[in-house]
Amino acid sequence: MRTSSKQVQTNVVIAPSRPDLLDRLAVRTAEREGARLLRKLRTIDHAQGPWLEIDGRRLLSFCSNDYLGLAQHPQLIAAFKRVADDEGVGSTSAHLICGHRAEHAALEEALADWTGRERALLFSAGYMANLGVLQSLLARGDVCVQDKLNHACLLDGAQWSGAELKRYPHADIEGAARQLSARRDAAALLATDGVFSMDGDIAPLRELAALCKREDATLMVDDAHGLGVLGERGAGSVHAANLGQSDVPVLMATLGKALGCFGAFVAGSNELIEGLIQFARPYIYTTAMPPAVASAALVAVNLAQTESWRREKLVALIERFRSGANQLGFALMPSVGAIQPLAFGDAQAALDAASHLEKHGLLATAIRPPTVPSGSARLRITLSAAHDESHVDQLLGALETLRLPAAAQAISGAPV
Ligand SMILES: *Cc1c(COP(=O)(O)O)cnc(C)c1O
Repeated sequence: MRTSSKQVQTNVVIAPSRPDLLDRLAVRTAEREGARLLRKLRTIDHAQGPWLEIDGRRLLSFCSNDYLGLAQHPQLIAAFKRVADDEGVGSTSAHLICGHRAEHAALEEALADWTGRERALLFSAGYMANLGVLQSLLARGDVCVQDKLNHACLLDGAQWSGAELKRYPHADIEGAARQLSARRDAAALLATDGVFSMDGDIAPLRELAALCKREDATLMVDDAHGLGVLGERGAGSVHAANLGQSDVPVLMATLGKALGCFGAFVAGSNELIEGLIQFARPYIYTTAMPPAVASAALVAVNLAQTESWRREKLVALIERFRSGANQLGFALMPSVGAIQPLAFGDAQAALDAASHLEKHGLLATAIRPPTVPSGSARLRITLSAAHDESHVDQLLGALETLRLPAAAQAISGAPV
């Protein structure tokens, strides 16, 4: 207990003991451990395609977001090295000072073109892009309507903005409509993941776009898991739903998933981008991504557009996995994409399944609350064009020897 010098002098007030912040944090961590929900860091010693070396063992990974297998593509690596040789590693500054390089500008142009938007703006991370958009567009008194299963940073961004955050049950158009019509007086943004990061299903984008038109609300789609994977030339879930800039005025996606790089962008009208440059604090007050990363990402965009065999291969692997897992009696979620979670419900059952797979040389992460709703723990299995059929068969073989707990049942549309 600390006592202020003033109190000692006057000797009148006994200060209430001030809680120690680090002690409190340690108590919360211990509680998490007690509930078997402790998060643990693992160090990967080496990555080669879908193979990871950990603790001297080589494991086949089914948990990366490198859906198109581009993270180690020789052309990306060559572009990265060339620009690092010429320009150095760091961008040395924020975009608005002297960090905005020709590589960033070229990438922004390619991203705007790919997504069919007027302009695009790079952010150093997807998390920051979502915070920046929501904080720039929304203010106290506004309403932000979001799917309950949206990514954490969309929820955080809305909270930070000061707007009223209302969450509707997963993919429930009626629920979203009720929340919008309850606040007809307020400026409104409806934000949704395009492909849900933990369930893998696609948002009802066309219905949401129609709803937003009817309600004069602005629609924002976070397509972190759709870009590169869905739609013609991989232009994403919004493009696949045939929705243009007027339907989805705010489109965000990341470069760290299917594109195998790092960073993110927001695409939309010239007005939107100019406004973000003025007001998005996570854009203004942070160092621009390294130009070498931007140049590797530009190569990734070109490959994602032109090498459609990557998407075709991925789709074939997904079908092979789904039909195999189905035959084994696993409850699959309604996902058409690279994210193919297996539901276990109970956190311990999901952990046991992950360690069973690891004994068989496979790495798939157990995702537990609070990342997913309580009672919906799962193995988040992801497939990649870097896998081949024998890898999927190896996974199915290991799953076959896993005794299904009684709790492993369908969590269709995951509880909210
Ligand atoms: C990964 C992810 C983000 C965050 O992107 P980063 O670039 O990793 O910060 C945002 N939204 C969704 C849906 C994501 O899956």
